[in-house]
Amino acid sequence: MQTNLQTPIDYLKGVGPNRADLLRKELGIHTYQDLLNLFPNRYIDRTHFYTINQLQRNSADVQIIGKIIGFKEIAQQRGKRLVATFQDETGNIELVWFRGQKWIRERLNLNTEYVIFGKTNWYSGKFSMPHPEIELLEDHNKNLSSAMQAVYPSTEKLSNKGISNRVICKIMQQLFLETNGRFVETLSEPILTELKLITKSEALFNVHFPKNQDLLSKAQFRLKFEELFYIQIQLILKNLIHKSKIKGFPFETVGNYFNTFFNSHLPFDLTKAQKRVIKEIRQDLGSQAQMNRLLQGDVGSGKTIVALMSMLIALDNGFQACLMAPTEILSVQHYNGLHDLCKDLNINIKLLTGSSTTLKRKKIHESLENGDLQLLIGTHALLEDKVKFKNLGLAIIDEQHRFGVAQRSKLWEKNTFPPHILVMTATPIPRTLAMSVYGDLDISIIDELPPGRRPIKTVHRYDKNRLQVFKFIRDEITKGRQIYIVYPLIQESSKMDYKDLMDGYESIVRDFPLPDYQISIVHGKMKPADKEYEMQRFVKGETQIMVATTVIEVGVNVPNASVMIVESAERFGLSQLHQLRGRVGRGAEQSFCILMTSHKLSNDSKVRLETMCKTNDGFEIAEVDLRLRGPGDIMGTQQSGILNLKIADLIKDKDILQSARYFAKKVLATDPSLATQENTAILNTYKQLGKYKNIWNYIS
Ligand code: ADP
Ligand code: MG
Repeated sequence: MQTNLQTPIDYLKGVGPNRADLLRKELGIHTYQDLLNLFPNRYIDRTHFYTINQLQRNSADVQIIGKIIGFKEIAQQRGKRLVATFQDETGNIELVWFRGQKWIRERLNLNTEYVIFGKTNWYSGKFSMPHPEIELLEDHNKNLSSAMQAVYPSTEKLSNKGISNRVICKIMQQLFLETNGRFVETLSEPILTELKLITKSEALFNVHFPKNQDLLSKAQFRLKFEELFYIQIQLILKNLIHKSKIKGFPFETVGNYFNTFFNSHLPFDLTKAQKRVIKEIRQDLGSQAQMNRLLQGDVGSGKTIVALMSMLIALDNGFQACLMAPTEILSVQHYNGLHDLCKDLNINIKLLTGSSTTLKRKKIHESLENGDLQLLIGTHALLEDKVKFKNLGLAIIDEQHRFGVAQRSKLWEKNTFPPHILVMTATPIPRTLAMSVYGDLDISIIDELPPGRRPIKTVHRYDKNRLQVFKFIRDEITKGRQIYIVYPLIQESSKMDYKDLMDGYESIVRDFPLPDYQISIVHGKMKPADKEYEMQRFVKGETQIMVATTVIEVGVNVPNASVMIVESAERFGLSQLHQLRGRVGRGAEQSFCILMTSHKLSNDSKVRLETMCKTNDGFEIAEVDLRLRGPGDIMGTQQSGILNLKIADLIKDKDILQSARYFAKKVLATDPSLATQENTAILNTYKQLGKYKNIWNYIS
């Protein structure tokens, strides 16, 4: 009979209530299953024994066979320490305990062979080993012998309370004895065969007690695959259910608005990538299901025109559309740009932001409800309860990383039927992450910049080279260019940051005096109207320098601006730097990005600066960012479960992830409800995971 893995951990021999309590609190281990899934952080080669004369001054973990030939207690500032002299044929070392002396003294015998294991210290001519793991040689030889010893995650509390790694190994061993090491298979036969995976039982045994490196690698591969596979199954099922259950408005026709625009008003030829993406969106809009699509494209790749053409399709089918952006400045810019593009199409388009006047708002609310207003552009203001559409058919959200998922769904609730949703982001997400975080969305990628763009030249300069940088600015302004100078504003409320900004501004004003130079300044504490005024002066070319905080990070488009200077660049994250740099390089001229820093740089900031100087490719930058920061900070990861990965690693296990997704898709393509005999194991495992119970109800 198979042991029920849901058995509480207290029942395992050798655990008992105290240890169970600690395991629960410290490692979240409640059941046998949880213990099985406590995977080692690393392994130590326990096949090798050192002799004392082989010890190196800073050796890592070593294992030695020998005898204790004497104990002494040494008084120290607080309490005393216990020291044992441990000897083999080649010499002796000291074993030292600062705690639990009585317990140890009673347990250890003189002149008996022990195996000790631990890290050695070198101090005044002698080796010592504090708090060694120690075991009778006789017992050592009897234990589940494995060449590589697992080292499990632990906490200070655990080791203080005597649950050492060795104890965890013992408990694990007991678990395998009680279960006979036989565990239910959780993958299907075809997958096991096709990928030549070892069975679940073999994998679990070898991950905890590896017989050799080869079996360990096979065990890890299989368990990582499985972990990622079930995440993909969940995500893909969610997507399938979404498509089959949530009906959208099918936009059947591509009519006058779209065609007129396409034939007569398109200001440039679309890139291949833009065409492909528009086609993907058209297909979604024309189908019976609600579109739920993520559009990724680097800064400047031309997402706006894609948004517009998608919205025109909604209009062609008699629906309204809206575009929501995260900042006032960006909404205004979108509005101006789109208003311009549509000026000959006779479309009713309006802007709604936090600073719209009450009168204006009232008019907008009315015309939205009676359907006169076709296209609404704006900020979060669009989400207010008062904003009611007559028939919102398509909602586009720009720069997605600023909005939460909850906000996304708020747009949904504006209709009895959910509108089609297109989420656009300029912060490329590494493919692996996109797959595991947004795996339930469909993804389109614009992976091509419009023709004729010259790559931006990026350099790193230290503060002491400021004069040179100023000279460069002067030269560029003489050529007719415009300059951004950006200061960090990490926290909106940070007084220091504002002080830096104002100091910087004053020194710029000194170095670039009126009347030759005109300077704009924009920051978060200004009134929206003032911000807009300063911004417009820069847009119109009336000012040559724009001093700003990161409010200009997102989306602002001034093609004549060709130099981006980032002050204290070491304080910015990679994706933010890339976003900032994206503000230049929009016109025909060669553009530059200068990253200014002090001399004090952490290793991470060095990597960030080097990466920026090396590449303009947002996807490459995103990969580095993921490696530096881990997935935790990236939008959407919290919901996705990928932060709780037990064995797989999104960065190192990219290939396994690809294959897990491939197989999950393949299984669900032929058997979406996992009903066939062949997929029973998958169905059962999936149900056990128990996460998407309500989703499951849709299917079965
Ligand atoms: P982003 O993807 O960053 O939102 P935008 O949509 O703002 O990019 O486009 C950046 C600039 O490139 C705009 O000035 C836009 O008019 C221009 N642009 C977009 N697509 C093309 C194209 N196919 N050919 C030439 N210029 C384009
Ligand atoms: Mg944009």
